[in-house]
Amino acid sequence: MTKIIREYPNSFNLPKRIEGLGRMAHNLWWVWNPNGQRLFNYIDPLLWNAINHNPVAFLRRVDRTRLNAALNQPKYLEQYDKTILEMEAYLSKKDTWFSTTYPKLKDKQIAYFSFEFGLHESLPVYAGGLGILSGDHLKEASDLGMPLTAVGFVYNQGYFVQHLTEDGWQETRSALIDYNELPLISLMDENRQPLMITVELPSRQVVARVWELEVGRIHLYLLDTNVDQNSQVDRQLTERLYSSDPEVRISQEILVGIGGVRALALLGITPSVWHMNEGHSAFLAVERLRELVKSGATLNTAIEKVRVSDIFTTHTPVPAGNDQFPLWLIDKYFGQVWSELGLTRDQFIDFGRQAQPWGETFVMPVLALKLSERANAVSELHGTVSRKMWNFLWPDRKVENVPIGYVTNGVHTNTWLARRMGVLFSKYLAEDWIERLDDPDLWEKAVNIPDVDLWEVRRHMKNKLVNFANERTRVQWRNGTLTASQVVAGGAFLEPYSLTIGFARRFATYKRANLMFRDFDRLMRLINNPHMPVQIIFAGKAHPADEPGKLLIQQIYRAVKEARSGGRLIFLEDYDINLARYLVQGVDVWMNTPRRPNEASGTSGMKAALNGGLNFSILDGWWREGYNGKNGWSIGTETEYANPEEQDMADAQSIYETLEKQIIPLFYERNHEKTPVEWLKMVKENLRTLTPQFSLRRMLKEYMTDYYLPAIESKKEDR
Ligand SMILES: *Cc1c(COP(=O)(O)O)cnc(C)c1O
Repeated sequence: MTKIIREYPNSFNLPKRIEGLGRMAHNLWWVWNPNGQRLFNYIDPLLWNAINHNPVAFLRRVDRTRLNAALNQPKYLEQYDKTILEMEAYLSKKDTWFSTTYPKLKDKQIAYFSFEFGLHESLPVYAGGLGILSGDHLKEASDLGMPLTAVGFVYNQGYFVQHLTEDGWQETRSALIDYNELPLISLMDENRQPLMITVELPSRQVVARVWELEVGRIHLYLLDTNVDQNSQVDRQLTERLYSSDPEVRISQEILVGIGGVRALALLGITPSVWHMNEGHSAFLAVERLRELVKSGATLNTAIEKVRVSDIFTTHTPVPAGNDQFPLWLIDKYFGQVWSELGLTRDQFIDFGRQAQPWGETFVMPVLALKLSERANAVSELHGTVSRKMWNFLWPDRKVENVPIGYVTNGVHTNTWLARRMGVLFSKYLAEDWIERLDDPDLWEKAVNIPDVDLWEVRRHMKNKLVNFANERTRVQWRNGTLTASQVVAGGAFLEPYSLTIGFARRFATYKRANLMFRDFDRLMRLINNPHMPVQIIFAGKAHPADEPGKLLIQQIYRAVKEARSGGRLIFLEDYDINLARYLVQGVDVWMNTPRRPNEASGTSGMKAALNGGLNFSILDGWWREGYNGKNGWSIGTETEYANPEEQDMADAQSIYETLEKQIIPLFYERNHEKTPVEWLKMVKENLRTLTPQFSLRRMLKEYMTDYYLPAIESKKEDR
């Protein structure tokens, strides 16, 4: 095994007394620990905001006089010492949940593969929900002390930045990311050469550099083909996420799957569990087969070995949404591989074959399902949908016996929680609430939070959202990039006392962002009542190749700019983790309107819930499990519709009725101290029931007992 040398590419020349900031900048621990963030923010808040809360960029650019000023503040130094100790104690902690619950498993390794990781806004290697889930997965694995190692890509252009033209057409920009401003750690071999893996692509070899990212106690390895040894075309393979070019896509999937297995081997990591988050990384199973066969195993033994340790999580409830390749591409890219496995072409294609209306394709989730003993969907209803969707792979089984279970998604509490909500929880739940955050008993105490305190924090967070939107549009207005009507659309008239509803997600048509516009006059009457005003904030990107999604944004934007909306409909550009945090912390109501049952889970509503925002959503995905009649509202019922038009009508009707008769009056009902007592009762019921259940901690413990543990113990499913 190669000896690996690890090196921080950045040395910041910090004053000795606070040089620990450099170490902190290179471990994402600070992302979910507000004390860590405050050490940077305190030194220069304007710079900290201007560089998107990126500690590496911050320490490279911060003015020396600012650092010296902090050095002269005893209070700062006290906070610094305390926080550094806190971080060191966390990183070196021996008695974690994992080590005390599974002391015998400490040498096992779980490998987790994902195409994207949404860890922080300053690390643009994510596009949306799937990435946020993987990012949260790593943070919680760190908190629980799980022996998990992750593999993905660092994209040198990340996902696109969104800008809307005056007429609401989505424009995309991308910027080259400077790796010197990312917290990447250089890995080098004993000759001090960058650590590289090689994969075979048609008539050439492509190399990828392996970078490391520290996420608390977890190591994430990121592949990057932008190196001198590659041709210009190959250097661009890891340029951006979700290319629409199938050749780029299959090359990326070969890189992450096959290259990922090779990278772990190079690093001396031998996982007992291989978890594929979505089908993009399923070629890892092919590489593992190839290795086993090469070292002498029969194909059947190899398949058994691979299957028992592979786990596949599906996130796609729509057949057309599945990642797939035309067979000629498989011929082109895997022509060498099937003979190495002792297979014919047809036998190899069988691993991923699915008949489509237009012919056969090679479907990545099929490959993943065939080579994984255990598979899961991401909510109960999504489990039902998935078993139906994949029943054809088990033709002799009844749909309910298709071996796909479910683990409902969750969110990493401390990443999404407003600091001041955390202060309330420490005060009224338990000082150590964070240690027990998935314990429903702890949350029984949510009723103890005094109304006045809770309302004050809620108002504070809404104020922050309003200021954020105001300030952002002010800057764009001054830069001359917006027209006056766009300034209004961007939230210039937002105000902190109105009932505020948030709607932010990827703009895909099934999410029906325009549902509440079906009766626009009625919506205008609802939001413009001078005694009970309502503002609705939209945000979200459409995939650059999704024309209907872009048209939907345009439709929303045109409505937003109409004068009669009174500036109470708002579209905030460029939805990312930073904007998501302001929204989920600041809005009173979080709304989601997918066409049932197309929302696999959804997670943004969970983020709003733990901050005391109330959900108002279709009973789909997670909300179908979370809603209890007293902790938020449902849109429509669980009726199954054959006719989508009928479904849209009924759901739109339900939106207007519930807003008018329940949500708006409840919000504006105040006692003599101007506190909305009944509203806050609902907020507390929401905290009590949803925070523990939809935490990533609950989710990860379920993965451990139902998936990772049986795989480690090599249990076979009864099939
Ligand atoms: C949470 C989050 C998502 C996923 O939200 P959904 O509820 O699945 O739509 C997408 N993008 C960002 C930036 C997020 O924070």
